[in-house]
Amino acid sequence: MTDKYAVIGHPISHSKSPLIHQAFAAQTQQDISYQAIEAPLDGFKATIERLVQEGYKGCNVTVPFKFEAFQLCKQLTGRAQAAQAVNTLFFRDGQVLGDNTDGAGLLTDIEQNLQCKLLFKKVLLMGAGGAAHGVIWQLFNAGATITVANRTLEKAQQMVSEFAPYGTVCASSYAALAGKKFDVVVNATSSSLTDELPPLPDGLFAPNALAYDMMYGKQTPFLKFAAAQGAARLADGLGMLVEQAAEAFCKWREVRPDTAPVIASLRP
Ligand code: NDP
Repeated sequence: MTDKYAVIGHPISHSKSPLIHQAFAAQTQQDISYQAIEAPLDGFKATIERLVQEGYKGCNVTVPFKFEAFQLCKQLTGRAQAAQAVNTLFFRDGQVLGDNTDGAGLLTDIEQNLQCKLLFKKVLLMGAGGAAHGVIWQLFNAGATITVANRTLEKAQQMVSEFAPYGTVCASSYAALAGKKFDVVVNATSSSLTDELPPLPDGLFAPNALAYDMMYGKQTPFLKFAAAQGAARLADGLGMLVEQAAEAFCKWREVRPDTAPVIASLRP
């Protein structure tokens, strides 16, 4: 029997997740269906309950429901607990387990696809929202030293106090970054959605630095700034998107898909 999966968000029509999971299923010969479902803004819980009743095996969760999914789950993986956000759900015998694969997706893209190892690297993580929460734990696991910069400094400070037990981390305003240099700068803000650039000072990029924007599908102001500032390497978030999907698929189906052809097929 075909096992049913879905991605839940609002809006959802733009989502590439159905394409990605269908490609993984074809490649690994898994008999699954995967559809995009738009839940009403006040109807996430009811949507999940419906999917459980209808015998779905799991789903992905995207904007704006990742925190609500976290609240909903009585069982969580360690990385979802650390992130306080959930992007992958497992349904079994009426129970719902929450996981977060965003951090693993980012790490695989940076360390394996882009061959940039993070051990002892100085990482600037821009943003203190869901995406930043989702990845910071994995950045610690990789041995990076992290600075969190956010427009609303209090949110960066709050995030740093939550994550301080895991590794070396400090909070900063954008202005206070002046004179500092980083090996990897990750844009986990939503500024690229509105074609804006956080107020970054000049001279941030260390020699051989990687500039990584989680946004994908367009040349963002951040990547243009990084190129003009001499960042050695630029990457968008398409690899992260496919790798976080692969991590979810692997947990659901116990088979790891090959991501390279799927990333290549989604590049314009
Ligand atoms: P949230 O709404 O939770 O957080 C937004 C963050 O961006 C906040 O820290 C906010 O700062 C900051 N911000 C927004 N606008 C600006 C601006 N103009 N200048 C500076 N900072 C700004 O969003 P998410 O964390 O969920 O998502 C962030 C981005 O990551 C999105 O573009 C999303 O598409 C992308 N993403 C990509 C993934 C992938 O697989 N490639 C996976 C997950 C997310 P403040 O606190 O001051 O409001």
